[in-house]
Amino acid sequence: MKYGIEQEGFLLKCANCHNIVSKDGQLNKNFCVECGAPLSVYAIASFEQYKEDTKKTLLKSMEEISIKYHTDSFAKIITILADEN
Ligand SMILES: [Zn+2]
Repeated sequence: MKYGIEQEGFLLKCANCHNIVSKDGQLNKNFCVECGAPLSVYAIASFEQYKEDTKKTLLKSMEEISIKYHTDSFAKIITILADEN
């Protein structure tokens, strides 16, 4: 998914789906109504933080399950997610 806007004069389009989000050059929406992509700098930062928090929660849950059930089923996933940082 692409974030932010594409600008053509006063026309602002969603960078992800190219839906027109403003015709007067003023960005009044944080997220695209068509695809949900974050448009504003604030929305992009919030979305990135949300993704990071979700990833941490998922990693913690997988680690807890691995310990509780003595399995290494998530080992490869945990390694891949941890390496993304
Ligand atoms: Zn969009």
